Amino acid sequence: MQAAIIAVGSELLTAFRTDSNSLFITSALNERGITVAFKIIIGDRRDDLARTVRGALERVPLLVLTGGLGPTDDDITREGVADALGLPLEEDEGILQGIRARFRARGMSMPGTNARQPQVIHGAVVLHNPNGTAPGQLVARDGRHVLLLPGPPREMRPMLLEALDKHLATVVPGIGVQRKVLKTAMKSESYIEQQAQPVYSRWAAMTPPIETTVLAAPGQVELHLSMTSASKEEGERILDDAAAELVSVLGDDVFSDDGRSLEQVVGDLLRSRGWKIGTAESCTGGLLTSRLTDVPGSSDYLDAGVVSYANWAKTALVGVDDATIAANGAVSEPVARAMASGVRKRLGADVGVGITGIAGPAGGSDSKPVGTVFVGVSFPGGEVVKKYRFLGGRDLVKGQAAQAALDMVRRALQAGTPAP
Ligand code: ATP
Repeated sequence: MQAAIIAVGSELLTAFRTDSNSLFITSALNERGITVAFKIIIGDRRDDLARTVRGALERVPLLVLTGGLGPTDDDITREGVADALGLPLEEDEGILQGIRARFRARGMSMPGTNARQPQVIHGAVVLHNPNGTAPGQLVARDGRHVLLLPGPPREMRPMLLEALDKHLATVVPGIGVQRKVLKTAMKSESYIEQQAQPVYSRWAAMTPPIETTVLAAPGQVELHLSMTSASKEEGERILDDAAAELVSVLGDDVFSDDGRSLEQVVGDLLRSRGWKIGTAESCTGGLLTSRLTDVPGSSDYLDAGVVSYANWAKTALVGVDDATIAANGAVSEPVARAMASGVRKRLGADVGVGITGIAGPAGGSDSKPVGTVFVGVSFPGGEVVKKYRFLGGRDLVKGQAAQAALDMVRRALQAGTPAP
């Protein structure tokens, strides 16, 4: 089965807003065996929208729209879809009361403009919006379905899942697209492809075939495997075997095969050992600590991090010897090593990480060009320090340095110190 997505909103056609909703919608549809044939971003014009909806429904039986369900004049999705389907809009008294009650609960009275929101396309199923005022709508017409959802992602997401699983489940055939994602860190895309391609190229000719997509970002390359199978169990088994074959050639460059991020994997490794981590960051300015704290429950293994940017801070807060900095420079292997062991001691942590580098654009030299970063990790099994040379602007150097540090911690914990 095929679907199309229409994101409505003139702001999505400017340089300041991105249509991210369609990515979530695509993923939810794919998981239920529906592929997306095309997607369209369109401004707040009723006649344009009506024409677009009509054209889309000639090509696909399911249309998901997001945005333009608000109370203001530029919210035209209800009207545009009603025009396209040749159906009238009718006021729904229950929705009106619900919106009034929502305002009353916050000690406010409902502004007159909200009176547009209870307009429902004739025959539509009304979808409750627990996180906002704009209800969704699901309209069936001549065997085709049109789903209208609000624009704010936190309102749209639960409503989409409910519409798909409760209202559209019987419409969608029972086949499914299965997926599995392998994530690797700190290896180049060409290296990963070179290792993995001989394995996954065979899968394209299998019945059913497994499709492999390589997605690369600085410091992280992901292999996305997908296939369509008659049963969920069969698909999962085939993809598990395929992933295991890839892991056998990529080894410990793979840090995740279950959707977890690198910071989650590191957090789980620390938690399983009952260990704490402490960080001393210079050029990353706290980015490593920020990523560690992106994980809920990270207080189990992180008490503190130090941003020791200036030399005096590396000495006073982390315990790096003045003489070490004077002899080697702040961006050096001995200083990264001393930051890692120093912060580990100062914070009473089991694992200490030190990062020092030149993020640029100024401050580079022939011997230490911009992008030179030293990362040290001190842990109960030993100590590692590595020198990197990252390319790109300041953001990219900082991002790759934090990624490298996380991956060094992961490899150190996995290799050197098995969990009890
Ligand atoms: P509401 O009345 O609750 O705002 P709405 O359906 O009218 O709902 P819009 O006014 O179109 O929604 O969008 C509201 C906000 O939702 C936008 O400013 C934007 O931040 C976000 N948004 C809208 N469409 C998208 C989209 N396709 N992807 C990501 N965010 C979106």
